[in-house]
Amino acid sequence: MEHLSTHTIEKGLEILRKFDDGRFLTSINSCVHCGLCADSCMYYVSMKENAFIPAKKVALIESIYKRYYTFTGRTFPKLIHAKELNGETTAELIDLFYGACTLCGRCNIHCAIGVDIAYLVSIGRAMLAEMGLTPPTLQSTVDAALTSGNNMRIATDDFVETLKWLEEELRDEVNDPDASIPLNEKDRNLLYTLNPREPKFFPLSISAMAKIFYAARESWTISTHMYDVTNYAFFTGNLNEARIIAQRMLDEVKKLNCRELILAECGHGERAFRWEAPNYLQTNFDFPVRTSVELLAQYIASGRIKVDKTLMKEKVTLHDPCNLVRSGGIIQEQRYILSKTVTDFVEMNPHGADNLCCGGGGGQLSMSEYNERRMKIGELKAEQIKKTGASVVVSPCHNCVDQLLQLNSYYKLRVKIKTLAELVAEALVLE
Ligand code: SF4
Ligand code: SF4
Repeated sequence: MEHLSTHTIEKGLEILRKFDDGRFLTSINSCVHCGLCADSCMYYVSMKENAFIPAKKVALIESIYKRYYTFTGRTFPKLIHAKELNGETTAELIDLFYGACTLCGRCNIHCAIGVDIAYLVSIGRAMLAEMGLTPPTLQSTVDAALTSGNNMRIATDDFVETLKWLEEELRDEVNDPDASIPLNEKDRNLLYTLNPREPKFFPLSISAMAKIFYAARESWTISTHMYDVTNYAFFTGNLNEARIIAQRMLDEVKKLNCRELILAECGHGERAFRWEAPNYLQTNFDFPVRTSVELLAQYIASGRIKVDKTLMKEKVTLHDPCNLVRSGGIIQEQRYILSKTVTDFVEMNPHGADNLCCGGGGGQLSMSEYNERRMKIGELKAEQIKKTGASVVVSPCHNCVDQLLQLNSYYKLRVKIKTLAELVAEALVLE
């Protein structure tokens, strides 16, 4: 790392000062160096590099904080191993906080003291973002969202054309010329979002949801102006950019006057808007925000859609997205849906709140410089999948689906990867 200007260093330190609240201070001061978190982190488990141990990540940010904001650190830094924020420590921060953490939060639940390690990593990322040191590969995803309205720079005309084509397909499939994918309709019950990967690479997951909405006779719409459920600024740590993206979604719900916002299958998108955006925007939403996972479970439980589990003949397993289960607490809904749509279901081990990250979280899928590491840590997930003997892996997150597709080909798993909506649409019985 080249020499950093005093101004750049001050910007980073200002973020540390701004965030030194109870949550931050408790976390940096509570680690008892027991090492229990080591085996919870797939970076350490896969590569056995000590620097990858979660507690080492805690120690790094702690040492920098104490160097500037404690009396002992300022006066006798060597005594407490306090480190300056300089080119060397910044390079370490970038490599460990962006390149060796998916923000999966598994270490948090394995720490007996309750150190919020993933939060400390996100503060470290916020520091680096303020210093202008976000990896350009990750930042380009945020820039795409800021300048084009979606993180894949899909032109509106192309987006509309794709949806019109899907609408034609839907009409053929359900044999109803009035079946539709409503665009920019006001006063609907639901505003439904998408992960831009859907129109770009996986249009069938949009078809699946459209078919389910048709079966449920739902009043819904998609905005062509702001439909992107993702918020990669949550991963870069640039809270101002995260706020701009979240504000756009809030404005769109208001503009279209929809009664509820339904977040598509996207773990971090759910966390960034439902749980983090009220903090970014300093407001509470005056409309409900739910995930499509919760909506699908409700449709099935209430009998609003009918499904036939015997239509699925294969053995199915489930990959839980970290942000959905550990941060969002959505654990039972996807299992309920599977209990109604699949006869042969097998859990991975571990699963639910203790699941292993697929390796693609935390923005890793955008940072090509860490691809080798990403595939290496993904080996643990590949092994989990193999052990289940399942031929279908379902995951309610498009980012996870993308990583699982890559693991499928890299580790020759020979499985099919599906979203939950696709699975439900396949089991759907249209009356
Ligand atoms: S959040 Fe996940 S990837 Fe990051 S240090 Fe903890 S266990 Fe490792
Ligand atoms: S488990 Fe918690 S207390 Fe133990 S080393 Fe890890 S962060 Fe520190």
